[in-house]
Amino acid sequence: MYIIIRGYVQTYTIFFTFAFLKNHTYNNYRMEKIAMVDLFGQYKKIRNEIDSAIQNVVESTAFINGPAVAAFQKNLESYLRTGHAITCGNGTDALQIALMSLELEPGDEVITTPFTFIATVEAIALLGLKPVFADVCSRSFNINTDEIKKAITGRTRVLLPVHLYGQCADMDSIMDIAQKNNLYVIEDAAQALGSEYTFSSGVKKMAGTMGHIGCTSFFPSKNLGCFGDGGAMFTDNPELGRKISSIRKHGSTVKYFHERTGVNSRLDTLQAAILDVKLKYLDQYNQARAKAADYYDDALKGIETLTLPKRMKQSAHIFHTYTLKTDPSDRDPLREFLKSRDIPTMLYYPLPMHLQEGYLKYGYKKGDFPVSEELCSSVLSIPMHTELKEDQLEFICNSIIEYFKSG
Ligand SMILES: *Cc1c(COP(=O)(O)O)cnc(C)c1O
Repeated sequence: MYIIIRGYVQTYTIFFTFAFLKNHTYNNYRMEKIAMVDLFGQYKKIRNEIDSAIQNVVESTAFINGPAVAAFQKNLESYLRTGHAITCGNGTDALQIALMSLELEPGDEVITTPFTFIATVEAIALLGLKPVFADVCSRSFNINTDEIKKAITGRTRVLLPVHLYGQCADMDSIMDIAQKNNLYVIEDAAQALGSEYTFSSGVKKMAGTMGHIGCTSFFPSKNLGCFGDGGAMFTDNPELGRKISSIRKHGSTVKYFHERTGVNSRLDTLQAAILDVKLKYLDQYNQARAKAADYYDDALKGIETLTLPKRMKQSAHIFHTYTLKTDPSDRDPLREFLKSRDIPTMLYYPLPMHLQEGYLKYGYKKGDFPVSEELCSSVLSIPMHTELKEDQLEFICNSIIEYFKSG
């Protein structure tokens, strides 16, 4: 009996080992399973610091607006070299609160990109404002400033560029257009926290601190991510800072007195404590991403039909994602091929904002923003995070090379 059981165990052990090796062996040694984003690997390296930060909050029971929130805001302000960093519940709220603080009229127009995550456009729509799209540049994936100029009307009030994938939009031109047309600029810096932009004057500013208001998200997979939801707004304007603080606390500055209609949007103390630890590592994290990106650049540069992400000279790239462009006929087959090797990929994004069902009411149609539409069928984001190992990078790149060789 014992022998039979032992036999089973051995058979299973051998079977599972074989299955495991088959999936994850490369050059005869075992490779860790590849993740799109490896949050646990990142946590393990700073586990003690994070655990004690969490424990401190739990023991203090200051779950709402505890001291860690103010401390994190201060540290963010100095990291970003900005006057006011005001935290809130998530990046979508940050955009909504930023727009609310400008006291716009229903029907006022906000120019933004159709090639973004829905939150950017949702915040505009929720407030009864009108999203007006300007197509993107095919190489930078960011809003095309010539298209912004064409989209300006008498109702335009705000330009809302998104620093997509970790690289800043053309802020020299955007700030110039805004100034000439008396417009506000809100930056969606949810994917670019820690990216630095160099103006043609030589002045350097951090993503989120160039416009009148900057917004970011601390969603777990963002470059600075917490263990749940979180967001923040940045401004150098004290008046806007006061309004933003009031709006996110039920339109109140003095408790139980309300000067306006606001919202309830807070960063939990637990999340602030976690973020305050992780902020110290943000530059290191962004460098680890850049190193993985360098590896990809170098290993994939020989593939003729593959376009690698372009590094724009004005902006650092912090590689929130590493996004390739393929011929549309290759995109899905390549994705399937990588999947068959257990290599995850993502589509950021499969459908532009102007063609989303819930947004057709704004009257746009297919063909209106050809660059964004084309990108939606040709972009492919491959694994990008702070913990990618060289054997994993090699396996990913060799698999991509193999796909194009056999195709
Ligand atoms: C993640 C993201 C947001 C929204 O952030 P949440 O915290 O998930 O609400 C907004 N805009 C862009 C471009 C994003 O990537």
